[in-house]
Amino acid sequence: MGTRSDGALDTDVIVVGAGPVGLLLAGELRTGGARVVVLEKLTRPTTESRASVLHARTMEILHDRGLLDRLGPPPDAGPGHFGGIPLDLTLAGDSPYAGQWKAPQTLIEAVLQEWATGLGAEVRRGHTVTGLVTDPDRVLVAATGPDGVRRRLSAAHLVGCDGEQSTVRWLAGFELAGALPTKELLRADLAGVDIPDRRFERNAKGVANARRGPRGITRIMVHEFGRVPEPDGPPVEFAEVARVWARVTGESLDGAEPVWVNAFHNARRQATRYRRGRVFLAGDAAHVQLPVGGQALNLGLQDAADLGWKLAAYATGRADGELLDTYHAERHPVGARVLGNIEAQAQLMFGGPDMDALRAVFRELLATGPARRHLAAMISGLDRPRSDRPHAEHLNTENPHTENPHPDRPRTDRPHADRPHSDHPRPEHRRTTYRRDTTMGKLNARTALVTGSSRGIGRAIALRLAREGALVAVHCSHNLEAAEETVATIEKDGGRAFAVQAELGVRGDVHELFLAVERGLKERTGATTLDILVNNAGIMGGVAPEDVTPEQFDRLFAVNARAPFFIIQRALGLIPDGGRIVNISSGLTRVANPQEVAYAMTKGAIDQLTLHFAKHLGPRNITVNSVGPGITDNGTPIFDNPEAVAQMAQLSVFNRVAQTSDVADVVAFLASGDARWITGSYLDASGGTLLG
Ligand code: NAP
Repeated sequence: MGTRSDGALDTDVIVVGAGPVGLLLAGELRTGGARVVVLEKLTRPTTESRASVLHARTMEILHDRGLLDRLGPPPDAGPGHFGGIPLDLTLAGDSPYAGQWKAPQTLIEAVLQEWATGLGAEVRRGHTVTGLVTDPDRVLVAATGPDGVRRRLSAAHLVGCDGEQSTVRWLAGFELAGALPTKELLRADLAGVDIPDRRFERNAKGVANARRGPRGITRIMVHEFGRVPEPDGPPVEFAEVARVWARVTGESLDGAEPVWVNAFHNARRQATRYRRGRVFLAGDAAHVQLPVGGQALNLGLQDAADLGWKLAAYATGRADGELLDTYHAERHPVGARVLGNIEAQAQLMFGGPDMDALRAVFRELLATGPARRHLAAMISGLDRPRSDRPHAEHLNTENPHTENPHPDRPRTDRPHADRPHSDHPRPEHRRTTYRRDTTMGKLNARTALVTGSSRGIGRAIALRLAREGALVAVHCSHNLEAAEETVATIEKDGGRAFAVQAELGVRGDVHELFLAVERGLKERTGATTLDILVNNAGIMGGVAPEDVTPEQFDRLFAVNARAPFFIIQRALGLIPDGGRIVNISSGLTRVANPQEVAYAMTKGAIDQLTLHFAKHLGPRNITVNSVGPGITDNGTPIFDNPEAVAQMAQLSVFNRVAQTSDVADVVAFLASGDARWITGSYLDASGGTLLG
């Protein structure tokens, strides 16, 4: 923060509101190198029980920032619903987090606040915004602090993340359009009550929900048909909730102790613009909706993820002003669509008997696969492009200040929580160039370990996975220099990787490997999640069957078969549902070559490893496949001999030996979402070797 000549404290972005949306935005801004101050009216974080469900797209966003582990990680929240009709959200589509996940808002806020402040965001609590003026260069904000003193701050941009009753929205003159509420719902968290759980129970007089949660607290929600909100009415009292509950369910809440009581409604209103000059809105400040199924919180967090990298890129000179307009262009239609589906759900859920026929039709529709998948994707935020990814066309790669343009990915150059940020230094970013490769990004925000990737086929696999956006652990046995060269090549190309060294086939090998892998992942992502494992490291035999010694045999098996088994066993604690395992086998499991009998036996074992683990891990949606290369130019001297190469080439129907990239492309496909339906398979990547 600097100080202007008029005494106002100056920063890049002021965020108003330290709820989940404002805090995620603040962390994003810091990650992208922008200075940020968050102003929050409350003197301490809320302890109120509010939204508690995270959907797949939000989970991906949190995973990308290494925040899931800090959250617990969130447990499965069970099946979802659409308008009260059960809907399995795991059908949402290609995401490791398809489903819904439980995380109380209080915990989300605590984790996000620690993350954002650790990155250098300044959160000022007890500050109420009272005035706002924009001039051509800055936004000037007046805020009264907890000491009652009014202070001025200025910034290039201001974002209102201050909820449904947004002060920023009002002060900056944003317009809200849409439908006024027609239904009121009552909600309470109760201790000392013993009533049966129920999900959207429809009675003659209304709809009731009850769910017993942790620490014996039961959350109830009730709507009495025909009950409309009272504009400017007094806050709802528990006695009123109890009366409505009794009328709808016939049950008494006598003796219950209310922990929290709240009334809400089905307003459907949206700011007509999400941006007015230097001021933006995100979360409930931009859209007001019925809080059903957690969509409001998820929509808000996704707004923040979209706006964060854009504002940061602009603030640090990496993007032009047009990029800022894409926030409204992308998020407003998404908001409108979510508000629409919430309204449809409100009709189904809280409509009276006149909605019974429509509900029956919906129930039938939801028995069909395509309808279920369509709605699950819609609710999970997977039915639209991931707009919180950087747009290459708007990032200024010519700018000499170009910094890492991938704020959506965990990066090695993130400021660390343990680094002091008292004077808000800008994070030092490694300079990279942004590649406009159209295939890029299939593995964005994924992490991968490729064993034996210092050279040969493994190196090509590491390069290819990194090109798709994965953070890759490049493993070697002794040749650390080669591993570091692979890492440098990846980084030069704008990707992320780190080297790990561990000799396989010896005592303690897997333990040593994972110590290094986990440390590397943790440093870069804040977590140890490993999405993709490629068991590639291997040694050949080249000894006639008569001459193989037991020691040679054991060594081949130790490196080629035993190590991959225990690597998978160890990795299972790190691989999330939906992860990928690829084992490099060999065409020699299909074609006889007596000089390599012991080696081929180890590769036969690899195919068995694939088959059985594929079945074992199916329930977790983890795919396990083998890839069988034929003769592949791995850079050993024999490939410098034209006659030898010509001879080897004849074995393939394409009359050439493979380049390492021929195999790497197959592995990258298996690692991608496109290969979700392939498991337990042996993929021949031998260029039609000895087809006949
Ligand atoms: P390569 O060029 O010989 O490279 C082997 C890689 O594995 C190197 O990174 C090496 O690390 C690592 N490695 C070797 N022994 C290790 C050990 N004991 N512990 C840890 N790491 C070890 O191999 P490649 O030809 O690319 O082969 C890769 C995989 O494809 C192997 O599984 C192989 O069996 C299979 N394959 C290859 C061909 C082919 O024609 N090339 C054909 C079919 C199947 P260092 O650099 O530190 O030594």
